[in-house]
Amino acid sequence: MIQIPFENRYVALGEQFYVKTRPTPVAEPAMIRFNDDLAASLGISPIPLSPDTGAAVFSGNVVPEGAEPLAMAYSGHQFGHFNPYLGDGRAILLGEVQGPGGDYFDVHLKGSGRTAFSRNGDGRAALGPVLREYLVSEAMEKLGVPTTRALAAVTTGEEVARDRYLPGAVITRVARSFVRVGTFQYFSARDDVESVKKLADHVIQRNYPEVADAENPYMELLKAVADKQASLIAQWMQLGFIHGVMNTDNMSIAGETIDYGPCAFMDDYDHKRVFSSIDQGGRYAYNNQPGIGLWNLTRLAESLVPLLADDGKAAVEIAQEVLKPYVASYQNAWLTGMREKCGLSENVDTAVSEEDKPLIEDLLNRMADNSADFTLTFHYLSQLDAQSSARDDEIRRLFDNPQEFDDWVAAWRQRLNFEPQSDAERQAQMNAVNPVYIPRNHQIEAAIRAAEDHNDFSVFHELHEVLQNPFVEQEGKDRYKLPPEPEEVVSQTFCGT
Ligand code: AMP
Ligand code: MG
Repeated sequence: MIQIPFENRYVALGEQFYVKTRPTPVAEPAMIRFNDDLAASLGISPIPLSPDTGAAVFSGNVVPEGAEPLAMAYSGHQFGHFNPYLGDGRAILLGEVQGPGGDYFDVHLKGSGRTAFSRNGDGRAALGPVLREYLVSEAMEKLGVPTTRALAAVTTGEEVARDRYLPGAVITRVARSFVRVGTFQYFSARDDVESVKKLADHVIQRNYPEVADAENPYMELLKAVADKQASLIAQWMQLGFIHGVMNTDNMSIAGETIDYGPCAFMDDYDHKRVFSSIDQGGRYAYNNQPGIGLWNLTRLAESLVPLLADDGKAAVEIAQEVLKPYVASYQNAWLTGMREKCGLSENVDTAVSEEDKPLIEDLLNRMADNSADFTLTFHYLSQLDAQSSARDDEIRRLFDNPQEFDDWVAAWRQRLNFEPQSDAERQAQMNAVNPVYIPRNHQIEAAIRAAEDHNDFSVFHELHEVLQNPFVEQEGKDRYKLPPEPEEVVSQTFCGT
């Protein structure tokens, strides 16, 4: 029997928070990939896993001793409309484990069968979205972005009915918390202030212990969550990442990227890019993400109002005050990161550094006008010399009209005159923040096609391998750098249902 030292503090919160649910066994579980490194970092390795036991546990066929599996209750604003009754419709929290560093992590199966929250859904996940989540979440980790992790992916040997029959799969995800903004909304919508408080206390103890002794811990909690969110979304923007479904039930209280559905990284840059087939209005388009972050945080603040002060009016004022710095905090995080991407340091004359934002925005506008690839532009920019255009060819070719790049790069080189570093130093710093490889949509699609159509997982494994080291140029892996050929372009991604 596999031993995972689970604790189950969520169970202790009370029955209003979940419905105890066992996974529904599947026909023929087979391991696609097990994340040994992650398991080791959680202190659950080496797991004495034969392929069979591993697949049995991470498909939900065998529930490890000590686990008290449950489906969490939550609400959520979906595309702006409030749904009071969502919850884990196809996911199950197995329990939490304490890593060697002392931090706690939740272990969660997704695709593990119907729950009390399934509504008309089958409780299952298709193989494609499971592979996408595995690849993108692990790539995000290696890119340095806070994210849920993928511990295991298993095929079920069963089919799931979508617009056609597809192979089924289960993914095991690990997070610092699966509590969402929508979890707070669930109790707030029911006027259950006592449970809002219990949940806030749980989150503080678990994820924000530093605010526990503050004069107003709930105010500090809101502030900390807002800060984390601002910096997370700035990181998404700096990598050209589009989450796709930033509903309040898909925003983690721990500030991690969560619920990878129809997400994607941009190839050619477009401020308004949308991939998700269900996002017809472009609510969650690339450029809207920072604003939606604030919208979602405002929903969290509303749920916390009864805890912020006894007097309702005073509480609302506190909530407003706390969220006021979000915009500046996001803009700071964005500018700091974009400066690093462009090799510009802040310790120059203010008159010079004040021009950085317009300079960076000018580059982005020119990239948009010229369909320049987002990732490659910054990757090639990282190789340029300050005084010479000898290495400009590759980056120029990304622009429909290379002259538009030439005009910009002349201004950039002027700006570099104020930088003290050598070319080599600046290039090293830029290469450390500008990835060579991102999980490009057409490559994810190729991995899914091979797995789904030919039961061939080698494409998935090779792509995963390349993405383990996104900042280092790897020999023989040039094709993973490249944007799609016109016939390979994936213009839409589908919700992970
Ligand atoms: P998501 O779009 O994956 O964030 O899911 C939104 C809501 O729909 C959550 O409550 C999910 O648990 C639920 N859901 C999505 N797909 C399914 C499914 N196949 N079966 C049951 N519930 C689902
Ligand atoms: Mg969700």
